[in-house]
Amino acid sequence: MKHEILKELHFVQEKGGLFYNEVRYLLIRTETLITFQKAAERDLGAKANQILFESGFVGGELSSKRYREVFSFSNDEIVRFIIGMGSQIGWGRFELEKFDFDQKKLIVKVFHSPFAEAYGPSASGVCHFIRGVLSGMASTVFQKSEILKESSCLATGDPFCRFEII
Ligand SMILES: [Zn+2]
Repeated sequence: MKHEILKELHFVQEKGGLFYNEVRYLLIRTETLITFQKAAERDLGAKANQILFESGFVGGELSSKRYREVFSFSNDEIVRFIIGMGSQIGWGRFELEKFDFDQKKLIVKVFHSPFAEAYGPSASGVCHFIRGVLSGMASTVFQKSEILKESSCLATGDPFCRFEII
């Protein structure tokens, strides 16, 4: 797999910022994010997961719209691009299991989710950021609101996380 995104990610010293195509990214320890997630779950219950999902959704939607425009991607190309980007920016090893525009099918597997690894064992899926990003991407591609389900999660003892349109 090519690593073109990482190659083009550049550091702007004056801003102390990392940029890819003028979009700012930041590196953050997984423990920082998971502490935020667990504190939100403790204080807000199930609402926390919805907040994490929405946050991921915004990123997935913005990236899908922007990079589709920048690179003039087809639906198939933008899906593959976002999947590739997920791996390259450190969100786990993304693999596209199925994408069928006509049947409105999308299934993505993620191995070694950093969210699941940092979270530890859980009774239900914990990768709400990834679920949100993929839902934002799917909503852009299918041009209607799509919510993916995390049907398997590393944190629940599954060998990988799996996300699909329900
Ligand atoms: Zn997961």
